Amino acid sequence: MQTNHQHRQLRGDLLVLIAVFCVLGGYLAYRTKTYLNQTTIQQTTTIRTGPGIEYRGTMELPKGTRVAVIRSKYEWLKVTTSANQQGWVPAWKLPAKYRPVIRSLKNATIVIDPGHGGSDSGALAVHGQMEKTYTLKFARMVAAKLRAKGAKVYLTRDSDRFVSLKARPALAKRVHANLFISFHFNSSPDENEASGFTTYYYHRGPSLQLAQDVNHQMRHLPITDKGSRFGNFLVIRNNTVPAILIEGGYINTSHDFQYIRSPRYRNVMTSDVVAGVQHFIETNH
Ligand SMILES: [Zn+2]
Repeated sequence: MQTNHQHRQLRGDLLVLIAVFCVLGGYLAYRTKTYLNQTTIQQTTTIRTGPGIEYRGTMELPKGTRVAVIRSKYEWLKVTTSANQQGWVPAWKLPAKYRPVIRSLKNATIVIDPGHGGSDSGALAVHGQMEKTYTLKFARMVAAKLRAKGAKVYLTRDSDRFVSLKARPALAKRVHANLFISFHFNSSPDENEASGFTTYYYHRGPSLQLAQDVNHQMRHLPITDKGSRFGNFLVIRNNTVPAILIEGGYINTSHDFQYIRSPRYRNVMTSDVVAGVQHFIETNH
């Protein structure tokens, strides 16, 4: 009995000792990892409560501040300072090796641009319906579907308001988006004389690839596929990130407009766009 009890006691002590070593080892490993992940802020930057410019800034980190990188989300890094202040900073304010490689929609930052708005109605349908109304409907639906897959989405407008052309690509630059998509509907000089959707790119390389990936997914839409084409539009030309502009049909052609106004067409087309974006993000890096 006595020996048995001693054995149990000894085993208990041993377990406590092992536990202490594990905790200590874990802590040291954590400290080492934190130490190895130390780097320096390249430009003075605001530390924020979350991974995005929409989160509140809590303090300024001057250029040269030493920080340890804890983890990344989107194009943002969670860091801690030697004074134990924690928060999120843009990865582009740190040395390039800290810039995350985005391979999934869960970490993608996307700017969606509903064409026109406010005093700029865009083109008009045969019975006067305005292009700006439909660009916003499509943009909102794409945004919702991308967000459901974990992406961070910024809309250049989320209401019927005027936004300058220059401000649209500027947003993509400010948030370091991984890609930019503008929604429009075409119109022809005379009613009912043209039909089809087109995906425009301006820059070759990733923008062209994005246009092809998205257009490929839209090939089964019930209106004519006019393919991916070069287009000289400011919002994609002045863009610093992969950028495309979708003309989702001719708004002043009754055949196309019956689809443009239909929730079913909108649902199918926006799902196609998401599938194209997903393919682009997962294969282009
Ligand atoms: Zn337009």
